[in-house]
Amino acid sequence: MSIPGVEKEGKYIYRIKKTGNMRVDAIVLADYETIDEEAIEQLKNVATLPGIVKAAYAMPDIHWGYGFPIGGVAAFDLEDGIISPGGVGFDINCGVRMLVVDGNSDIVKKNLESLIKRIYESVPVGVGETSDLRFSKNDFKKIVEQGVRKVIEMGYGTEEDLLRIEDRGTLEDCDFSDVSEEAYERGKDELGTLGAGNHFIEIQLVEEVYDEEIASVFGIKKGDITILIHTGSRGFGHQIATDYIKYMRDNLKDHNKNLPDKQLINAPFKSEWGQAYYSAMNCAANYAFANRQIITHMIRKAFKSVVGMNVRLVYDVAHNIAKVEEYEIDGRKRKVIVHRKGATRAFGPGNAALPEIFKKTGQPVIIPGSMGTASYILVGTKKAEEMTFGSTAHGAGRALGRREATRELTVNHVLKELESKGIKIMAKSKKGIVEEAPEAYKNVDKVVQIVDELGISLKIAKCIPLGVVKG
Ligand code: 5GP
Ligand code: MN
Ligand code: MN
Repeated sequence: MSIPGVEKEGKYIYRIKKTGNMRVDAIVLADYETIDEEAIEQLKNVATLPGIVKAAYAMPDIHWGYGFPIGGVAAFDLEDGIISPGGVGFDINCGVRMLVVDGNSDIVKKNLESLIKRIYESVPVGVGETSDLRFSKNDFKKIVEQGVRKVIEMGYGTEEDLLRIEDRGTLEDCDFSDVSEEAYERGKDELGTLGAGNHFIEIQLVEEVYDEEIASVFGIKKGDITILIHTGSRGFGHQIATDYIKYMRDNLKDHNKNLPDKQLINAPFKSEWGQAYYSAMNCAANYAFANRQIITHMIRKAFKSVVGMNVRLVYDVAHNIAKVEEYEIDGRKRKVIVHRKGATRAFGPGNAALPEIFKKTGQPVIIPGSMGTASYILVGTKKAEEMTFGSTAHGAGRALGRREATRELTVNHVLKELESKGIKIMAKSKKGIVEEAPEAYKNVDKVVQIVDELGISLKIAKCIPLGVVKG
């Protein structure tokens, strides 16, 4: 296989020199064999957008997405650059949170079935599933404007949790008045719900630790039981993305008239629409952080009641978001709006955005694999800050589209395979089980090896699945 225009620059580094309307080069950090041509076309399209700085980047888990590829990173100048809902994704602040259980792992293993069942019963899962929690509109406003800070005040966790969430789970620059009534209606009963398909809660075992010192700062060691929560902003974020794509289409026709793909619809960051989307997106991001916090509370209750154990937060990362950050570019400090779509922030040691606990190590990075393979925790690096606007991969990345997976695999096959590995599963939808089959994803070990070798995040520990709750 050979993709036209893709030149090898180093091991796992490929460059597509700017041609046509591209303003910058595109850089793909991946195993060549796994790069799909459609996603490359998308990355080249991203490189044509106004104000893009340095290059458009793809992580090793790159695959096709709405407008921007998933596994894509692009930074735009704050003054003359743009912000694009397609560069964030419909599930604004979809992300992953890792928890660790304090106590004997054998007891957890013995009670695995009851634990999975209790979690499945306490966290609403599935498409459009609502929760029993009810918040007044005023509290809802505070939650989306203050994120985790507000839900902790309401009793869903402790102050210490805040330090172990990207940006303390609270993004400023948001105003509820930029959110539509429809978004509020869709979001109000979905706080504390998991959602469907790719979203999951997984109980895991720390099988291998590569750096004990850093692992101990993260609060984990070999043999520990960890839990991953993967979910985002539910219908709330989806509606905000939908709304702003429409607003930009209706109001910024002239600005968007030369787009290579209409899904790249965007607004100048400093414009009224750009600022309004940024504010609404931050509301959705706060919602997602709060959602994962409330689910954590439910999981803590489940562990307390089934095995009497405490559950600590390790870290929480966003992987669909756009953020204002400062980088040295061509010898001068510049503010940019970094779009990470299916990409994880990977700040290194000393970064001013990190709390004291992670100042020496760099931030934790979580890369899930699939329900039948490993998942990893890594640490961010200075190299990532220099090379990829402080970004790394966010998962194994899909190898098969949802439809392809359904065509090629059966529920029974997937269940048998999980059973043969001793992995317990409770899932809401059979369709979801097939779409989420381990075979539907690329090889996570390879993705992690690549980011580790490139140095844009370094392996700290490997976790294997024991049981999973799927939407
Ligand atoms: P996304 O946010 O792109 O839907 O998913 C992020 C990553 O999660 C995927 O690329 C995939 O590697 C991983 N993933 C999907 N389902 C599961 C699961 O059930 N368990 C684990 N550990 N990882 C999963
Ligand atoms: Mn999601
Ligand atoms: Mn996600």
